[in-house]
Amino acid sequence: MIAEVLVEIKAKNIDNTFSYLIPKEIQEKIKIGTRVLVPFGKQKLEGFVLNIKEYESVDYDLKKVISLVDEEPVLNDEMLELGKYISKKTLCNLITAYQTMLPSALKAKSKINIKEKYISYLKIKKGANLLNITNDKQKKILSLFDNQDKIIKKYATDISISSVKTLIKNNILEELKIEEYRINNIDIKEKSNIKLNDEQNNVINKIIKKKNQFQPFLIHGVTGSGKTEVYMHLIEEIIKEDKEAIVLVPEISLTPQLENNFRKRFGKIVAILHSRLSNGEKYDEWRKIRRKEVKVVIGARSAIFAPLSNLGIIIIDEEHEASYKQEINPKYNAIDIAMWRGKRYNIPVVLGSATPKIESYTRAKMGIYELCELKKRVNNNLPKVTLIDMKDEIKKGNKIISEMLDNKIEETLKKNEQVILLLNRRGYSTIINCKTCGYVHKCQACDIPLTYHKTSNTMRCHYCGYASRKLQICPECKSPNINEYGMGTEKLEQYIKEKYSTSKVIRMDNDTTSKKGSHEKIINDFKAEKYNILIGTQMIAKGLDFPKVTLVGVINGDTSLNIPDFRSGERTFDLLNQVAGRAGRANLSGEVIIQGFNIDHYSIKYASLHDYIGFYNEEMKIRKILKYSPYYNLAFIKLTSKNYNEIETEAYKIVKHFKNKNLDDTYILGPSPGMLPKINNVYNLGIILKYKNSNKIFNELRFINEIYRKHKINVDIDINPIRI
Ligand code: ADP
Ligand code: ZN
Ligand code: ZN
Repeated sequence: MIAEVLVEIKAKNIDNTFSYLIPKEIQEKIKIGTRVLVPFGKQKLEGFVLNIKEYESVDYDLKKVISLVDEEPVLNDEMLELGKYISKKTLCNLITAYQTMLPSALKAKSKINIKEKYISYLKIKKGANLLNITNDKQKKILSLFDNQDKIIKKYATDISISSVKTLIKNNILEELKIEEYRINNIDIKEKSNIKLNDEQNNVINKIIKKKNQFQPFLIHGVTGSGKTEVYMHLIEEIIKEDKEAIVLVPEISLTPQLENNFRKRFGKIVAILHSRLSNGEKYDEWRKIRRKEVKVVIGARSAIFAPLSNLGIIIIDEEHEASYKQEINPKYNAIDIAMWRGKRYNIPVVLGSATPKIESYTRAKMGIYELCELKKRVNNNLPKVTLIDMKDEIKKGNKIISEMLDNKIEETLKKNEQVILLLNRRGYSTIINCKTCGYVHKCQACDIPLTYHKTSNTMRCHYCGYASRKLQICPECKSPNINEYGMGTEKLEQYIKEKYSTSKVIRMDNDTTSKKGSHEKIINDFKAEKYNILIGTQMIAKGLDFPKVTLVGVINGDTSLNIPDFRSGERTFDLLNQVAGRAGRANLSGEVIIQGFNIDHYSIKYASLHDYIGFYNEEMKIRKILKYSPYYNLAFIKLTSKNYNEIETEAYKIVKHFKNKNLDDTYILGPSPGMLPKINNVYNLGIILKYKNSNKIFNELRFINEIYRKHKINVDIDINPIRI
């Protein structure tokens, strides 16, 4: 017999299987989807068995499979098929697709050697004679076993290990090794006493009616309208039928709050997958799923690959979030995968958001998705939003906090309620320059200004991670007059601490949450009211539920509009809408103040009115004029190299290739450098294609992809990119 094996090889131009003879000893055991060790040139490599076939006389001179890596296949039929779909749809190598679907411990050729965790237990040996034991210590140990089947942990503080050893040696006790998961699900199931409102019930009924067919739904529900509650009810219904559920949430909103809510509702049958788990923990969670010990999997993007085999529903919360699209290869979108699996199992796929993606809402309007609406907040109380033009405030001498926001903060603190302040920029000051000659301290590798971080007294590049000491004198003119401009969360924190000196302030951004558990601690401490004011980047805008927060202030609410991406209006609307959604979620009413210099922009105006439809209509007009999605499909071709001339030459060749094809209703933009033309000394150029006919373009893209597999510059194709 012969195995066709797909191996992981770094060279990007190899994407096919190799044949190996299967030695007699493993012929019985080897299955499609199993990892095997095979010889490859001078190396030994791990790979996945993709096919097993009979030996034919042409197959002479084949090398042999060395050994099996696993007892059971790591890829099942569904995953094997799904990998092919991903590879075709995103133009990635098949092996890359399979590797992405597995936890690190199960990837082919993983260097991470993770084993199951075993704990030693003791048990009284069958037929042991206990009567002759006279030693007190030994007697004491034996008294812990009140029946024949009782097991106790071998290594416990109150047990003398030398006595245990003697008892084992004398055949009185025996040792058992029992596997223990790194995350142990405790059964804390509680009955919920929430009574659903009519809107919620309607949505649930609509979806449950179609529980046995493939149907995408879009739940458009304002922040605090009880979407999570709807998801949990849907899952309860599905579990009653003995089926399983996947719930995707964006990484940032995968908070301990959400985890606790699900554990309380569903008890032991929940598995959680996210990037803060260790590799061992991920491995264990994955195996719980594979062993059918759980029925609900909650996780970020890659949880869509959870190897459940009796799916009943897939739910994607905050469906508009960019993090559902992977930005490295394979550039898959978890929502596409959800649809693929939804079709396979004939089940509903539920997308939910307060601010659906423009494309998703369009699909709902077209009837491709069934639209469900939750128009009211559970407490019937949307926060009032006020826009403040900082151009006027600066004239009054209020550089950071407007008069109104200042008054409201004072009031809120007086009432013993909590404040959230959003500033979507970390660090202390954003530009450092020389007052005398104008020199700006930039990252040499990326050519953008460095950000000053006061706590570590360093200048940092937020793109490549470069760090250096803060300038004392100008390297150009030796002047000591160094100036700081701009403001990040660190400076805001310092300013707020001084201004409201009796209040307790905490900051949450990438710099304060790098340690494991720090994220949870900040959230829990703020919820427990150990702090009055929470300052943070977009990290604090989403998904969090703090009942005591009644005031949200947004500093520089318009900065995200300056990012040159056709979705910047949409992102600004989302961010403002989401952060505003943090105010007044419980029985206290909330208020939101958005400060900025460009507050007349429609995305800010509609966010302040909580008017998604108004925003949608305005945005669609612009998308139509500029020929962007959803009117046109997009593909983004990115060329990167340390040698700028090389990518320039190739970029023009690619543009010419498409122009020569005379594709109808297709527009070619570029080549042009990205917002950061150089990152870590690597230059980039981008080409954007806007097109209607996917098939034709797809063939051309595949062609380009093949050609540049073997080229020294890197050409990367992103179909339906989420960021350009
Ligand atoms: P969303 O996800 O839409 O922002 P959540 O599901 O987090 O909203 O609900 C907001 C709050 O309202 C939560 O504290 C939740 O427990 C509560 N809630 C949801 N539905 C109801 C209901 N029918 N009655 C009372 N409280 C509810
Ligand atoms: Zn100077
Ligand atoms: Zn840099």
